[in-house]
Amino acid sequence: MATVDELLEFLPGTDCGQCGGSCREFAEFLSTRELSPGDCPVLHEPDFAGFIEALQELLGPAAPGMSIDQEKCNGCGICVTMCEYHLGNCAEARLGRGPRPGDSVVFKVVNGQVVVLHQELCTRLIQAAEKCNKCGDHCPTGAITLT
Ligand code: SF4
Ligand code: SF4
Ligand code: SF4
Repeated sequence: MATVDELLEFLPGTDCGQCGGSCREFAEFLSTRELSPGDCPVLHEPDFAGFIEALQELLGPAAPGMSIDQEKCNGCGICVTMCEYHLGNCAEARLGRGPRPGDSVVFKVVNGQVVVLHQELCTRLIQAAEKCNKCGDHCPTGAITLT
C-alpha cells in the first residue's frame, strides 16, 4: 500500500480545491479509498496523461470492503459474536460473549455502536477463501454492507 507522500507525487500539487480540499487531503482520501484517482478533475487534462493509471497501480487492487451504517446500527453485537474470524480466534466470541480488551478482533461494540478495529482480519480478504457474509447476513438492521 502506497503512503500519502507517494500518492501525492502523482497529484497536480496545485491545491485548486475542485475536489473539496487540498491535494494532500485528496491523497489521504485515496489511501483510505474514500476517493479514487479519477475524482480529481485536473488529472483528466492532457498534461497529466497516465497519472490516473500510475495512481491506480500504486494503490493496488481494492480489497473487499465492509462499511457500516452507524445510523442503522443498534449496537446489538450479533455481528461480533457471529463473525467467522472471531469464532475461530476469540474464545469469548465462541462463548457468545463480547471480546476482552486485548483480543484482536475485526470489530466490537463501543458505547452502543459497532466499531471496525481490524478489517484486515476479516476472512473475506483471504485469497481463494469462500467469501463469508455472516455479519451482513445476521445483522438485524441491515447496517453492514460487504463488497
Ligand atoms: S482537484 Fe486535484 S489538483 Fe485540485 S486540489 Fe484536488 S487533488 Fe489537487
Ligand atoms: S449486527 Fe448490525 S446492528 Fe448489531 S451491532 Fe452489528 S452492525 Fe450493529
Ligand atoms: S465477513 Fe468478515 S467480519 Fe463479517 S463475519 Fe465474516 S469474517 Fe467476520
